[in-house]
Amino acid sequence: MSPAPAVLRMALPSPLRRCFDYLPPDGVAGECLRPGVRLRVPFGRREVVGVLLEVASKSELPLDKLRPALELIDEQPLLPAHLLELAQWAARYYQYPLGEALAVFLPTLLRQGESASYRAEQLWRVVAGFDADTLAGARRQRELVDALAGHPHGLSADAIKALGFAPGLLRAAEQSGAIERCWRESVPHGAPGADKLLHESPLTLNPEQQAALQAVTADGEAFRCILLQGVTGSGKTEVYLQAIAAVLAAGKQALVLVPEIGLTPQTVGRFKARFNVPVVAMHSGLNDRERLDAWLAGSRGEAGVLIGTRSAILTPLARPGLIVIDEEHDGSFKQQEGFRYSARDLAVMRARAEAVPLLLGSATPSLESLHNAWSGRYRWLRMEQRAGGARAPQFELLDVRNQPLVDGLSDVLVAQMKAHLARGEQVLVFLNRRGFAPTLMCHDCGWIADCPQCDAHMTLHRSPPQLHCHHCDYQAPVQFNCPQCQSRDISAVGAGTERTEDALTRLFPKVPVIRVDRDSTRRKGAMARIVEQIHASGPCLLVGTQMLAKGHHFPRVTLVAILDADAGLFSADFRGMEKMAQLVLQVAGRAGRADKPGRVIMQTHQCDHPNLRCLIEQGYTDFARLQLQERRAAGLPPFTHYALVRSEAVAQGRAETFLQYVRAIIEQWPLEGVTLLGPLPSPMEKRAGRFRAQLLLYADHRAPLHRLLHALALLLEQDKQAKKVRWSIDVDPYDLF
Ligand code: ADP
Ligand code: ZN
Ligand code: ZN
Repeated sequence: MSPAPAVLRMALPSPLRRCFDYLPPDGVAGECLRPGVRLRVPFGRREVVGVLLEVASKSELPLDKLRPALELIDEQPLLPAHLLELAQWAARYYQYPLGEALAVFLPTLLRQGESASYRAEQLWRVVAGFDADTLAGARRQRELVDALAGHPHGLSADAIKALGFAPGLLRAAEQSGAIERCWRESVPHGAPGADKLLHESPLTLNPEQQAALQAVTADGEAFRCILLQGVTGSGKTEVYLQAIAAVLAAGKQALVLVPEIGLTPQTVGRFKARFNVPVVAMHSGLNDRERLDAWLAGSRGEAGVLIGTRSAILTPLARPGLIVIDEEHDGSFKQQEGFRYSARDLAVMRARAEAVPLLLGSATPSLESLHNAWSGRYRWLRMEQRAGGARAPQFELLDVRNQPLVDGLSDVLVAQMKAHLARGEQVLVFLNRRGFAPTLMCHDCGWIADCPQCDAHMTLHRSPPQLHCHHCDYQAPVQFNCPQCQSRDISAVGAGTERTEDALTRLFPKVPVIRVDRDSTRRKGAMARIVEQIHASGPCLLVGTQMLAKGHHFPRVTLVAILDADAGLFSADFRGMEKMAQLVLQVAGRAGRADKPGRVIMQTHQCDHPNLRCLIEQGYTDFARLQLQERRAAGLPPFTHYALVRSEAVAQGRAETFLQYVRAIIEQWPLEGVTLLGPLPSPMEKRAGRFRAQLLLYADHRAPLHRLLHALALLLEQDKQAKKVRWSIDVDPYDLF
């Protein structure tokens, strides 16, 4: 009897939600074909790199219709079984083709078929059998040969230079036939588990921190989710560091996720300063080669700590011990296009599969996580004291109804700034709009500088002077004559950070004004220089966007002025209020010391708004309870489950018509408690030249919603109408835009 045929079930980079079957490549033994290895396969007329999911004994196709794979790329699986399963789960859950989902997690070079090994480093060694006596006339070359003789595996050019040899000598000795180049994988040095794990000694924890650390480390290796709600400055990072130290001491690795905006050299520096093991960062600034090396450092076990943004969540660890998500409420953990996964939600699945603790930290946890904590799924721990001795800031609402605002500043606020500056203190002015002004308007006819490609105004920028659409990046020269009525009476409407900077410079000509936003920090190292300047400066004014809200502490800032607290109160987004509260508290948390606590003044037209009052009088936790009650009453997430079918097209109305067609299809199916809302034009209907619409599906239970979405995705990927528009499915959407 012949053995059962082996059928390779593969995930390929294809938009189709299915697997593809192949026969093993010629001459490759069966035991090499383990799930998680890559193979090169013929696909249509192309060759592509795919990942083996399973070896099956039969295919839906007749065996003689299957093509053999061309080449086995890996000796070892790239992804361990549980991560391969997690990727499959995520592709199903987020209704995205598996092959393309995997492509999001694997470094580009691996997707392209590059071997899974570190960058090769060039070294120099003595040529075997070389007779040093032939170098009698070249003393330095001879000394070089003697020095290298002790390093049979070779030394890098840098190491040789450090020994005092000039770089030119290498070339000369090579020409003499004395030394030669060789290559070695440049593996990160210093293995975890080395005798001395710490560079610096840990701080002595206060009782709140101790309790938190205890909760993470006590039960050793077991899955649990811990939500650590600690006010800014309560020492959450110190808890992470000590929890990680325990993990490293046990010979394990830690994965730390931080928001995009938070992965600064300072953050990574804090981990590197503490640990005497490789701390490897993974972020969008890496080139393809660096990214692969970082990925390998995690998956092969060289990295003791892997710190990364969202996509690091599917990087394998050889010896997983702990997952930490800092600022767990941050929106950047949800991918907003393509494969729309939530790294926080995947982290829960992953921690369970790896039987490790998951530590979610934030001063202002997401309502989803608080709901999980309060319903008993997560442990909820709080740290209310600031660890470094600083005291919590005092909040005040400043009613600006009927008050003249000059460049967005009220007289009362300016007087307060003056008082703080006069005492030699610093003031932080927060405004979440960069540029000079939100737009430009003609006083005579009302013309507004709109983006031709979006339903949005163009922002006026001063340096360089231009109109810029922040939604599609469209840029245009500044207008001096109204294009509609030729009037020259054109002016900037509203204020952005550049204008506020101007206004403050005029009001306080002797005080330095430092602006912090995406424009002022574009250059490499700019943020670090600005932070240094702030720390070194006496009284000064900081003006900035949410870039100021993350990761830094400015002890000399004693007044935080929030120019427009109302921005989130009337947002069409059901999370608007939550996002506003998180941002305000993050900004407020930058300020203050023990002897000089911070004050936060919020200018508002909505002094009596119950949610705003609750936030400042009772604090975030009560605010969150109130919000959750409102969400429950209104049937909003997390009490119902949301999914959006989005569509966009160049012709107006087409996306909406398509979604009507989708709705009609869905209505033929058993809805099992799924409700449909729409289609409606998106809140910003036109963006980057396309008209957008959305259909909302929601349900009390996930299962019927997902059955429906799955059937829909399979149907649409084959559907003729669907080919005429762009469409996507967003499960648990973060933004409804
Ligand atoms: P968070 O991450 O909660 O904002 P950090 O961990 O950054 O807080 O701590 C804020 C400041 O307090 C830092 O300067 C830190 O070094 C200091 N700190 C943290 N824990 C302690 C402690 N146990 N004793 C003294 N200082 C501490
Ligand atoms: Zn005009
Ligand atoms: Zn635009």
